[in-house]
Amino acid sequence: MNRDKSPKVLPQDEYNQVLISNVSPPGWRNPEPSKRYNLVVIGAGTAGLVTAAGAAGLGARVALIERHLLGGDCLNYGCVPSKSIIRSARSAEDVRLAGSLGIRVPEGMEVDFPAVMERMRRLRSKLSSHDSARRFQEMGVDVFLGEARFTGADSVEAGGKRLRFSKAVIATGARAVELPIEGLREIGYLTNETVFSLTERPQRLAVIGGGPLGSELAQAFHRLGSRVTLFEAGDHLLGREDSDAAQILQDAFVKEGVQLNLGSKPKRVSRTDQGKVITYEKNGKEEQLVVDEILIGVGRAPNVEGLNLEAAGVKYDRKNGVIVNDFLQTSNPRIYAAGDICLQAKFTHTADATARIVIQNALFLGRKKLSALTIPWTTYTDPEIAHVGMYERDAKERGIEVDTFARSLSEVDRAVLDGEDQGFVKLHVKRGTDKILGATIVARHAGEMIGEIGLAMVGGLGLKAMANVIHPYPTQAEAIKQVADMYNRTRLTPFIKRGFSFWLGLNRLNSAAALSRYRHRAQSVLSRAFAALAKKKAPERKEE
Ligand SMILES: Cc1cc2nc3c(=O)[nH]c(=O)nc-3n(C[C@H](O)[C@H](O)[C@H](O)COP(=O)(O)OP(=O)(O)OC[C@H]3O[C@@H](n4cnc5c(N)ncnc54)[C@H](O)[C@@H]3O)c2cc1C
Repeated sequence: MNRDKSPKVLPQDEYNQVLISNVSPPGWRNPEPSKRYNLVVIGAGTAGLVTAAGAAGLGARVALIERHLLGGDCLNYGCVPSKSIIRSARSAEDVRLAGSLGIRVPEGMEVDFPAVMERMRRLRSKLSSHDSARRFQEMGVDVFLGEARFTGADSVEAGGKRLRFSKAVIATGARAVELPIEGLREIGYLTNETVFSLTERPQRLAVIGGGPLGSELAQAFHRLGSRVTLFEAGDHLLGREDSDAAQILQDAFVKEGVQLNLGSKPKRVSRTDQGKVITYEKNGKEEQLVVDEILIGVGRAPNVEGLNLEAAGVKYDRKNGVIVNDFLQTSNPRIYAAGDICLQAKFTHTADATARIVIQNALFLGRKKLSALTIPWTTYTDPEIAHVGMYERDAKERGIEVDTFARSLSEVDRAVLDGEDQGFVKLHVKRGTDKILGATIVARHAGEMIGEIGLAMVGGLGLKAMANVIHPYPTQAEAIKQVADMYNRTRLTPFIKRGFSFWLGLNRLNSAAALSRYRHRAQSVLSRAFAALAKKKAPERKEE
C-alpha cells in the first residue's frame, strides 16, 4: 500500500523537500513482508536505525517501521538543528567579543536570522542522506512507513501489513511533555518539533525549563538577537549538574543578558494586543511577562501510546516508558527496547549504545548489560558542561567515599589565552585509590575533553596513569593532566620526601669518595622511598 500523504516539515523549501525525500519519501511503497523476520524494529530514530543497520549487516532479515520521519528527533528536531544554530550563535557572540581581543569590528554587526535557519536546513538536509529510506532499503532492510501496532506476542501491524517476528525492538523514542499551564494550548507555543521551522526571529522569547534543551536554546536565541527570559522552577539551571558547574553557566547567562527567572513557575498564559502574557509565581507573588513566543523545553514523555503493548505483553508506564531489565529485554522475552523509550539518559549516543546491546542480546545470545556502560553527556551551552560517571552525591548515596581533585581553568595557560578561563575540571576517585568514579568539566569545548576521562574509565586506567599522558602545550585539556598531577603530589609523604632529600643531599657533596662511603645506605633509603611512592595511594581529600 502506498502512503497517500507524506509528513510536512516547514518551511517547504528546497532543503526540507530533500529532507522529506530522504526520510519520508512521497509515494513510498511498503514491501511485501517476509514470512518471519529475525528482527522487527519499531521506530527509526537513532536507536532503531543503528539496530536495523547492524542486524542487517550481520545477515539478519530485518523490518524497520517508522510512522513519521526516519532519523527521529536527533536529525529532524533535536541534536542536528540545535547544534547548527548554536554554531551560528557562537559566531555572533565571538564577533561581539572581538573588541576584547583587539579586533575592531565595524559598527552594525547584524544577525541574519533567516540565513541562520536556512543554513541549518541545508546542513540537516545534507546529513539526512545517512538516514534515508532508500539507503536502508539498499542495506537489505524492509522499510515500512506507517504506525506500528502489536497484534500479539510475535506480530505487529504497520501500513496495513502484518509482520511476524522472532525478535522485535521497541525504539519509539520520546516527545515534549505537555505542561499543565492554563491557556497554553489555546495560545499556542513552540516545542523542539516546531522551533526549528521558524523563519523569523521572535523578538521576545520565553523559554520554560532550564534543563539542557531550554538552556542551550535560550542562549542560542539570545545570541541570535531575541530578548530571552528563561523560567526555571529549581534554584539553579541544569538541575542534574553540580551547583558549582551551573553557577558558572548562570554567571555567563547574566553577563550576556539572558534574563534568568529561577525559582519561578508559570501558571497561566493569555493573549493581549501586546503579545502573549505569562503569569508566573515567584517568591509567593504573581508577576507577569509579555512575550511574542513561548518555547517549552521541559521534560520528555515516552512514546508508548498506540503501540498496543498490552497485546504483546510488554509492561510500561507513561512516565518511564517501556520497562526493561539490565539486558534491555522487556516483560515479553522476544521483545527488547532501546533509546529514549526505556532510558533515563536520553541521548543519541545512549540510543546508539543500547542498540548495539540489543543486537547482541536479541540475535546472538549475548549477555551485554546496560549497567556496564560508562555514559558521558554534554550540554552544549557556552561554556559547555560535560559529565561522565558518578557525581559526588551518587557516590555518597552508595556509601562510597571519594577524594575530589579540581583545577580551575584560570590556572590553565590556554584557557587564559583564549579568554575562556571560566570553568574547571573536577574528578572524583574512590578514596585512598586512583580509581576514577566520575568527572565534570566546564569549558568551552568540554564535550571534546570528557572523552579522555571516559576512555580512562572504560580502560580501567587510574589517575596515576593519566598523569603520564602528555598533552600538547598549550591546550585546555592540559587541565586533566594537571588534576592527575595534583593526585600524584598527594603521594609524596614526608617519609618519601625525606628519602629524596637525603639522596639529593648526597649528590650535592659531589664527591665520588663520599658517595661510595654512603652508597649502601643511600641505595636502601632511595629504594624504600620509591617502593613507598609506587604503593602510595591518595591519602586524603585534596581540593584546589
Ligand atoms: C532539541 C534537542 C536537542 C538534543 N540534542 C542532543 C545532543 O546534542 N546530543 C544528544 O546526545 N542528544 C540530544 N538530544 C536527544 C536525542 O535527540 C535523543 O536522545 C535521540 O534522538 C533518541 O533516539 P531514539 O531513537 O531513542 O528516539 P527518537 O529519535 O525519538 O526516534 C523514535 C522514532 O520512533 C517513531 N515512532 C514512535 N512511535 C511509533 C510507532 N508507533 N510506530 C512507528 N514509529 C514510531 C518516531 O516517529 C521517531 O522517529 C536532543 C533532543 C532534543 C529534543
